Amino acid sequence: MYKAKAYSAASATAPLASTTIQRREPTDRDVQIEILFCGICHSDLHTVRDEWNSVMPTIYPCVPGHEIVGRVTKVGSAVTRFKPGDLAGVGCLVDSDHSCPSCDANLEQFCTNATFTYNSPDKHLGGVTYGGYSDSIVVDEHFVLRVPTNLNLAGVAPLLCAGITTYSPIHRWGDIKGKKVGVVGLGGLGHMGVKFAKAFGAHVVVFTTSPGKKEDALRLGADEVIISTDAEQMKQHAGTFNFILDTIAADHDLNAYIQMLGLEGNITLVGAPDKPLALSSFALLFGRRSVSGSLIGGLAETQEMLDFCGQHNITSDVEVIPIQRVNEAYERLVKSDVKYRFSIDMASLKAE
Ligand code: NAP
Ligand code: ZN
Repeated sequence: MYKAKAYSAASATAPLASTTIQRREPTDRDVQIEILFCGICHSDLHTVRDEWNSVMPTIYPCVPGHEIVGRVTKVGSAVTRFKPGDLAGVGCLVDSDHSCPSCDANLEQFCTNATFTYNSPDKHLGGVTYGGYSDSIVVDEHFVLRVPTNLNLAGVAPLLCAGITTYSPIHRWGDIKGKKVGVVGLGGLGHMGVKFAKAFGAHVVVFTTSPGKKEDALRLGADEVIISTDAEQMKQHAGTFNFILDTIAADHDLNAYIQMLGLEGNITLVGAPDKPLALSSFALLFGRRSVSGSLIGGLAETQEMLDFCGQHNITSDVEVIPIQRVNEAYERLVKSDVKYRFSIDMASLKAE
């Protein structure tokens, strides 16, 4: 074992603070990575504040972070895809059982024995896994992604969660070219959803509660913007969408968005509010509409997304911050004041 610098929360109400954690020495199959940037996902905040207690309670101390990009410092003897000096990415998963139907189908995110990057039982060291708000991490090679060398690294980090979480459902929907696609919520996930839907040729419409984000939405690739609190604007678009991606992190009126769908339209939820959303059967019955959910993506699909981003020059729009400003960033995230992802420059951890 060796010591790594990190930021952790000691309880649901404590601010994140500097600490030291233990990491394992790389095994034969492991890749050791010096973390350069780590994005701040709203899931980090839900977890740090134990907002998902009823589904997956938080074990403290908690070191969040699952949008990791860095440089390989060491590899085990059985590692074939990486060597020291290579760029590497790590998302929400660091292990799975490699033997269940989900793993066989390259859907490791649905493996019932999956190990998530933080707050998951750590098979190697006991306790729970610690995430990317740290200067280093050790991960099984299967869960390490190759990073295109032509992209800005601070903007690559958020692709590892916000990127794959939006790429996967949009891509899986089918041929979206020319279709009317809505993206609800212009935050970390939402702004990536706009970029991917646009790249796949959709007519993209952003639903936002923040009128001040309209210009940015258009710049990011939206064809139209609806201020969702304006009933008149909502009414004008009712029944016209083929597909909607809902990224809202808090309680909201799901039925209002279902009403936006046309015949057999689908709304896919990726946002994970702590409390259940009310669902009107009638909103679904009329128009044979459907609601579904989507969780990140498997390793193969995540690599495909990163390669796609390399080819199309897609990164996240980031506000780079030193780790010392992480608590302030969390407060801004709660207020939907993020443009459009915070990316922590991990060099700032050297000062701790
Ligand atoms: P984020 O950056 O905070 O963005 C969420 C956006 O939702 C906000 O910018 C805001 O957009 C809108 N919003 C927030 N509160 C709202 C409210 N009360 N009513 C209406 N709109 C509201 O968060 P994120 O990192 O994108 O994550 C979004 C959600 O996805 C979180 O719940 C997160 O845990 C979840 N998530 C799920 C997966 C998955 O695999 N399914 C992966 C990652 C994250 P406007 O200002 O435009 O209205
Ligand atoms: Zn995330």
